[in-house]
Amino acid sequence: MSTISKVNLCDLPYPALERFVMEELGFKKFRAVQIWQWIWVKNVAGFEAMTDISQSDRARLAEIAEIRWPAIADVRVSADGTTKFLLELSDGELVETVLIPSDAPKRPNDVTVRMTQCVSTQVGCAMACSFCSTGKLGFRRNMTMGEILGQVQVARAYVGDTQPERPIIRNLVYMGMGEPLLNLATVMDSLRTLEHPKGLAFSPRRITVSTCGIEAGMREFGDSGLAFLAVSLHAPNQELREKLMPRAAHWPLEELIGALERYPLKTRERITLEYLVIAGVNDQPEHVKQLARICARLKAKLNLIPYNPTPGTPYRAPSPEELLRFEKALWAKDITAIVRKSKGQDIEAACGQLRAAHDAAARGDATGA
Ligand code: SAH
Repeated sequence: MSTISKVNLCDLPYPALERFVMEELGFKKFRAVQIWQWIWVKNVAGFEAMTDISQSDRARLAEIAEIRWPAIADVRVSADGTTKFLLELSDGELVETVLIPSDAPKRPNDVTVRMTQCVSTQVGCAMACSFCSTGKLGFRRNMTMGEILGQVQVARAYVGDTQPERPIIRNLVYMGMGEPLLNLATVMDSLRTLEHPKGLAFSPRRITVSTCGIEAGMREFGDSGLAFLAVSLHAPNQELREKLMPRAAHWPLEELIGALERYPLKTRERITLEYLVIAGVNDQPEHVKQLARICARLKAKLNLIPYNPTPGTPYRAPSPEELLRFEKALWAKDITAIVRKSKGQDIEAACGQLRAAHDAAARGDATGA
């Protein structure tokens, strides 16, 4: 028996949706805008809800198309409000996405909840960074556009984010599982969909894509202007970077920094350099000097992320005193370094940790949960 698979409209960028609606369904062009808004703005679960489309046209749609989002397999809410979702994709694969409450309100009496969402772009990751729990999983497959943005739509529905002009989820970071630049075409489609003026109209200034530094694609991504760039540096010299990020370090640090020097930036835009602080490994006085030389060459700001301990790695998180000492040493060199506090540590919110815990529990591994 063969089943004809339906087209998941969530996987189609606007031009492809328009083509599908006109060529496959024979509908008028304006129907594409209507369907687009039902899917992306109103976030409906199916065609029945599309009340400005006739019953018979909805039936036609349901015959050959579908609206399919990932399913929530688990949700964990941390004491600090960080909410982590484990999502199941249609082939049973699991990915993670996290909602992080933004910091203190800007004005007194401002009770608006604002959140930053961290999304995944691949199931697993090929880069095998030694500190990262997704890296241990290896690469399984790329996520589709509907799966990448499905994380946002599932989270929007969960928190009741229904008015794009006053969003609860205000900022997006592509910093979950996977390496975005290795799924570049789909990631760029997802950014165009987010920013589509007839859809969610997300500003590129509210989206950051984080990469470990992949030569192919970085320039194309920069020229697109679709989002800000963050680069996972984690080591200020090639030798240490080879130890911490063996695959990423195939592109020599000197060449990566050179590419960042030439990277196209908008007015007042800066590249974010992410630096995982691992006690005794990359937080020594020589590293401060090396970081200062790198930062002097770039329009960049440095985000310090205290290492979130992952089972099975030899590394240790810095104590608050160690972290402060490192931060102050950087300030003394005039480097804009900001510590990004780890949130959601009680719910295994670091990259890949929740899926790892689930996989371990499935194996009956007592250390995993
Ligand atoms: N591949 C991309 C995006 C995914 S990783 C990249 O490398 O940037 C997102 C961020 O989480 C990276 O900066 C990564 O280094 C960091 N990260 C991974 N494991 C971590 C851990 N155990 N503790 C804290 N941050 C971690």
